[in-house]
Amino acid sequence: MTDAKPCPICQKPAVLAFKPFCSARCRQVDLGKWLTESYSVPAQPPGEEDDGA
Ligand SMILES: [Zn+2]
Repeated sequence: MTDAKPCPICQKPAVLAFKPFCSARCRQVDLGKWLTESYSVPAQPPGEEDDGA
């Protein structure tokens, strides 16, 4: 069954339960990569976190 794309993290065959990854660990790795990137680029300047209209 080599129908699915390989895991983008480790290139192993993806598992349906963790699609498109092969395991929860690889999914976490990808998620962590995402979060790290967004943390390095702040969306708004700090100071106004409560926007009460
Ligand atoms: Zn993997």
